[in-house]
Amino acid sequence: MRLLEEILDFNEQFVEEKKYEKYTTTKLPNKKMVLLTCMDTRLVELLPKALNVKNGDVKLVKNAGALVTHPFGSIMRSLLVAVYQLQAEEVLIIGHHDCGMSGMKPDGIMESMRKRGKSEAALDTITYSGVDVKEWLRGFENVEESVAHSVKMVKKHPLMPDDIPVHGLVIHPSTGKLDLVVNGYEN
Ligand SMILES: [Zn+2]
Repeated sequence: MRLLEEILDFNEQFVEEKKYEKYTTTKLPNKKMVLLTCMDTRLVELLPKALNVKNGDVKLVKNAGALVTHPFGSIMRSLLVAVYQLQAEEVLIIGHHDCGMSGMKPDGIMESMRKRGKSEAALDTITYSGVDVKEWLRGFENVEESVAHSVKMVKKHPLMPDDIPVHGLVIHPSTGKLDLVVNGYEN
C-alpha cells in the first residue's frame, strides 16, 4: 500500500470509530496565543507536549525555520489573522537547535534542483524577473539571532497592534527544553 492509500485507509476507521471525539474543540484558542515554529519532524509531537499545548489551545503556524522573512508574506498574514480574527493576544516564535535552515547554503539546494532536472534557463528566468533566488533560499547562521530578528519583524510590523507581546524562544529538538531569547512582556 502506498502512503496516500495507507492514510485514507486509516482515516476511514478513525472516523468510523469516532476517535475524533476526544479532540472536539473550537477554532478560538483557549490560551489566546498564536505560535510560529519550524516544520521539523522532531517537533511534531514533542513541541506541544513540552509546552503543555493541547488541541484547541493555540493557533499554530509552521514553516521551515520558524522564519518571518517577508512583512507581507503568508506567515505575517497568518499571525495578523490570528490576532485580529481569532482572539490571539500573544505571539510566540520558537526556533530550534540543529535546524535544517541553520547554515543552509543556497548553492547546495540549487545544485539539487539542477540534479532533479530544473534547467539553468529556469533559474535565469527567475533571476531576471527580479527575484534574488539565492537570498530567498538562504538559511540563518545563528538560531537565537534568527528568532530575535523574526520577533522584531512581527513586533514592529505596521499592522500589528502595539500592545501584543511577541516572545522569542529556542527549543531543544530532543529534550524539549526551552530557552528564552526575547521576553515579549519587557519589550
Ligand atoms: Zn527547523
